[in-house]
Amino acid sequence: MRIANLSGRLVLIADGRAIDVEQATGGRFSADPQAVYDRWEEFRAWVAEAADLPAGVAFEPAALGSPVPAPRQVLAIGLNYRDHASESGFASPSGLPPVFTKYVTSITGPVSEVALPPGGHTDWEVELVAVIGARAEGVSEDAAWEHVAGLAVGQDISERITQLAGPAPQFSLGKSYPGFAPVGPWLVTPDEFENPDDLELRCTINGEEVQKCRTRDLIFSVPALIAGLSAVLPLLPGDAIFTGTPAGVGLGRDPQRWLASGDVLVSTVAGIGELRQTFTA
Ligand code: ZN
Repeated sequence: MRIANLSGRLVLIADGRAIDVEQATGGRFSADPQAVYDRWEEFRAWVAEAADLPAGVAFEPAALGSPVPAPRQVLAIGLNYRDHASESGFASPSGLPPVFTKYVTSITGPVSEVALPPGGHTDWEVELVAVIGARAEGVSEDAAWEHVAGLAVGQDISERITQLAGPAPQFSLGKSYPGFAPVGPWLVTPDEFENPDDLELRCTINGEEVQKCRTRDLIFSVPALIAGLSAVLPLLPGDAIFTGTPAGVGLGRDPQRWLASGDVLVSTVAGIGELRQTFTA
């Protein structure tokens, strides 16, 4: 199943067309794309049994918002691929990796223009995003996937000067400028993948490939993250977890490279889809 946020309304995506959920259910489910996660099991059951759904409408990707537009918590993970930890000058984490947030005001849909913070060093980080579908508290790795509503593509856009300013790093601020958390293009449920723990991530700038990896190379897999995080705090329906980025970011290059006005950043997860960000001065 695929769900999306089309012009602020919850839709089901079927054969590339969008079916308005509030209309198709006669108002049983709200049009609010964030509200569906609080009734996730009931919604899944309705979709599984729904017959004679309307054909849906064609749409432009630019009309999509984030499939998770207002999570109560956004948890973002640092240094979760060995090659990226090493390019960043850190050892791979042994306990839980670094955890920070991207403030919800930075979340956008999959196609956007992003203003570069003046004087900044703005960098790219393609990531798999997992969205929680059932409250998770003290969940084991074995049971973790049952608490996931679905997966989306995310970009953890990062302004490195703010992020790394002393005396202690400002990860959350440096990664929360407006537009710095595009998510989408839709949410895909885990059952749609042959193996949801082995997905290919890619990222290009103006067509040039800068990142490519598979999520089987995560140090902490999605289940391991949910187990580790939910041992500390409850994860709530509709929460988003940015699971970390592989090697190939601008910070780790020699010479270092930053996004420039006019650059087009395309971030892809195989089996989900792509994000497309254009940067402006
Ligand atoms: Zn990141």
